[in-house]
Amino acid sequence: MRKRTKEVQLGNVRIGGGNPVSVQSMTTFDPIYVEDTVKQIKGLEAVGCDIVRVAVPTIESAYQLASIMSQISIPLVADIHFNYKLALEAIKQNVDGLRLNPGNIGNDNKIKEIVLAAKEKSIPIRVGVNAGSLEKELLIKYGAPTAEAMVESAIRQVSILEKLNYDKIIISLKASDIKLTTEACEIISHKVDYPLHIGVTEAGTTWSGTIKSAIGIGHLLLQGIGDTIRVSLTGNPIEEIKVGRQILKSLGFIKNEITVISCPTCGRCTVDLITLANEAEKRFENIKKPIKVAIMGCSVNGPGEAKDADIGIAGGVSNYVLFKNGKLDRKIDIDKALDVLLDEIDKM
Ligand code: SF4
Repeated sequence: MRKRTKEVQLGNVRIGGGNPVSVQSMTTFDPIYVEDTVKQIKGLEAVGCDIVRVAVPTIESAYQLASIMSQISIPLVADIHFNYKLALEAIKQNVDGLRLNPGNIGNDNKIKEIVLAAKEKSIPIRVGVNAGSLEKELLIKYGAPTAEAMVESAIRQVSILEKLNYDKIIISLKASDIKLTTEACEIISHKVDYPLHIGVTEAGTTWSGTIKSAIGIGHLLLQGIGDTIRVSLTGNPIEEIKVGRQILKSLGFIKNEITVISCPTCGRCTVDLITLANEAEKRFENIKKPIKVAIMGCSVNGPGEAKDADIGIAGGVSNYVLFKNGKLDRKIDIDKALDVLLDEIDKM
């Protein structure tokens, strides 16, 4: 069962409070490059990105945020480090959310100014603790960046905001180590009711980072922890969204899409199933139907092995067979197999 956290409204997306787990990513351009940034965000939107974060390194970057937001349709979060003026300008530009750590801003009056401005516009703030940049005194106290140290750091950041009567808070605790990340999230989840943004940070390249993220994010979501996710990959952010959505789909959080079951093939398979299965997955991408489709290597065992699929095809000697709910329907030519399957799905 999912932990019921407080609901925080971020633009047109609700985070926590039992709302669907949202998937987010981050752009790779400085927002001064408006056209590139918008193009990248539109690409992310097209593959199902719910929220986008943009790094704001300079005041010139902050000045472009409203222009970017006017050209996109998902909420934009400004990622600010250290400089309070950037946060104030981002708020002025009407961003949907901020990612900043009040502890990094330093001066109490500056923090107060940011929080009052954010409060006035109901802009949520995500405080994000990264194991790699913990406060020095916490490292001395705990001897290493432990899960407990990360939690204490997050609670400190949260209390600064709470003392200013601010509660539109989202929290993240991340490390590149899966165990550290999940332990920290588990502990904080028992201590606070604010929604959690989860992910394994600096997870690696698309291949290794996908595996690490799936383990870490999957482990937490299976325990009911996590309200919004980010897969962090050294690669195209589009892949982050695809992987994030696939994690949610694999866990049954996204239902209105096609789930593909495909066999690993063995000596009984006489068709090029690998090419067909990959092509099928691509062509199913935009079909919004909660259907289980099987792509199996042989008609001897395939229909039986995939009998919980709604529909499927299995390789024959010189053809494919179409089957529905485990029962053979008809033979199809090899070169028409995928089109026939798509036609049948269309009718369902
Ligand atoms: S469905 Fe057929 S080809 Fe695929 S693994 Fe099973 S027996 Fe082998």
